[in-house]
Amino acid sequence: MGYVVEPPEVTSVAVHGSDDRFPVRRIYCVGRNYAAHAREMGHDPDREVPFYFTKPRDAIVENGADVPYPTLTENYHFEAELVVAINKSCTNVSVEDALDHVYGYAVGNDLTRRDLQGEAKKKGRPWDVGKAFDNSAPCAEIHTVDQVGHIENARIWLSVNDEIKQDSDVNKLIWSVAEVIANLSTLFTLETGDLIYTGTPEGVGPVVKGDVIKVGVDGLTSLETKIV
Ligand code: MN
Repeated sequence: MGYVVEPPEVTSVAVHGSDDRFPVRRIYCVGRNYAAHAREMGHDPDREVPFYFTKPRDAIVENGADVPYPTLTENYHFEAELVVAINKSCTNVSVEDALDHVYGYAVGNDLTRRDLQGEAKKKGRPWDVGKAFDNSAPCAEIHTVDQVGHIENARIWLSVNDEIKQDSDVNKLIWSVAEVIANLSTLFTLETGDLIYTGTPEGVGPVVKGDVIKVGVDGLTSLETKIV
């Protein structure tokens, strides 16, 4: 059997220390998972139940690549995020067992058309046009748990043209990585190849063409992209 048209390419992310790559199945993102960012977006962060949106897997952008400024926005934002790569199927996993399902960690940027997202929020519409557009998910190489352990205390930062815009610590996540995996697995069966963007700290803001965005989490390879 063949296909009537060319099937889409497998999207994948580089793995530190390996020539082989991590194939991406789905991209889940957590909303408002740092208290100070929830506040800057006008919300009360007192542990509202975590909520999610998704991006298509082909929104992944390779570290070092140029990112075209997207269409139909005048307020295009960066969001520094710790990304978790899943390597084992799970449904209703407990918080205690959740980290057994982690393959590794990477640095990501949840690029956002903030104006379109804001309009969708106001009208009670889905966030897809604000969040799930082309090239909206840059991701640096994955470091395996064997290489770096679990990332629980680490500075997370983002700079635009070398000026620091976001500077926090992943220990400030409202819902920890284990809690996010456990909760998300009650809603969806998580599978090998899934990535979870775990939320951004405060300090989000706009970029324009020509800006260079660097994102880092201590212990992981930094992510650098230029907006063109
Ligand atoms: Mn985000």
